Amino acid sequence: MAEAPATKRLWKLLGNVLVAILALVVSGDALTGESRAADGLRISNRLSPKNARRPLRPETRFIVLHTTEGAQAGSLDKVRRRGETHYFVTTGGTVFRIIDRARIATHAGRSMWDALRNIDNYAIGIEVVGNYNRDITEAQYAALRELLRQLKSVYRLPDDRVLTHSMVAYGRPNRFQRSDHRGRKRCGMVFARPDVRRKLGLTAGPDRDPDVDAGRLVIADRLLYNSLFTRGRPGAVAASPPPAESPVPAAEEASAISRDQTAWYIAREKYDSPTTTYILPDGKRLRGDEIEDWSTLPQGTRVLVGEEEDESLADLFREIGRDGNTARDLAGDAFDRATTIYFFRDGLVRTGRDLSTAGQTRTLLDRLPAGTRVLVGYVYGGYVKSSRPPSSIAGVKWNYPSTFYRFPNGRIVSGDGIDDSGIPVRTLIFYQN
Ligand SMILES: [Zn+2]
Repeated sequence: MAEAPATKRLWKLLGNVLVAILALVVSGDALTGESRAADGLRISNRLSPKNARRPLRPETRFIVLHTTEGAQAGSLDKVRRRGETHYFVTTGGTVFRIIDRARIATHAGRSMWDALRNIDNYAIGIEVVGNYNRDITEAQYAALRELLRQLKSVYRLPDDRVLTHSMVAYGRPNRFQRSDHRGRKRCGMVFARPDVRRKLGLTAGPDRDPDVDAGRLVIADRLLYNSLFTRGRPGAVAASPPPAESPVPAAEEASAISRDQTAWYIAREKYDSPTTTYILPDGKRLRGDEIEDWSTLPQGTRVLVGEEEDESLADLFREIGRDGNTARDLAGDAFDRATTIYFFRDGLVRTGRDLSTAGQTRTLLDRLPAGTRVLVGYVYGGYVKSSRPPSSIAGVKWNYPSTFYRFPNGRIVSGDGIDDSGIPVRTLIFYQN
């Protein structure tokens, strides 16, 4: 028998309160910082200014390991400013706490694992100063091993839930990749190596990519894929021989365009960014956004990639004209669902279901104007009113970084750090379902 809606709401509310209490309790019981110096792990607070406003994370299913790909000071500054990790492991083995582990940190960006999207909402992120293709320091091994041991124990996570950013990040179609693909990032690749995992006290990682197996993603970088997943390397990790040097070239070696290395292979999604510079063999320099015909870039062109991109979720929006020309291009089979949201340039916002069921608008769906933006897998929460605050619409997700607000003036902002009291009426709210 179905429960009365009021009872259901009450249960839901109770559930949310319980989650919040649990998160706070769990947060206090271990990993409390410098007082724990006895076990060899030193954690010092370097909390992000965003920490206090980040929502609690109701569920923790994964730990995602990252490599900074940049020098320590600059990387620390960046992740603190943006609230992009829970922990930061210096080359000397000191661990900084950036975001409280009970809260959400934005570190994985566009991500998916076993059909679960936006992994930030389910994962602890750890940034390790280093490079995707280089071993970490002994001091980092010691600190990370102990940090992982404690986190795995607190959240009861088996070793194959300790993933790398490169395992979970995925890319959208672009000039070089025809479909959604794995291979958007090489970040944290070193933590898939069996010998590295063993030194970190981890047994085997995942031996397969569940999203590639299910056909949700294709493999864009076969070398990277083979470095990440042990399938085809039978036997337990302990029995496998120490791997030869990774076949994936280090960033500095992989900086020139060749037959095997496209602009995408080197710069990934920054290939057409204004901060990526192409130096042609004749010395001529071009910015990524100045290149129109990618097939004519001569071999030997060197590629300099600018600063690591912001793992922003704003690019969850797909756009007609940029990402495809039809509703199906942008949303696939979900194009006419209630959880696909269309934002027209004139300000109209409708779900796929609304558009497909009304006669007048079905033609709109057939021929979406250029510039129409689409969000897939989202709930249309409706208007914020004084009697209907964001938390009564989106529940605990009201201030998730993955929640979006569309202000009456058309501006769309993320729930990250949004001020509950500063939201005008007639603001629309959208949260991930
Ligand atoms: Zn990363």
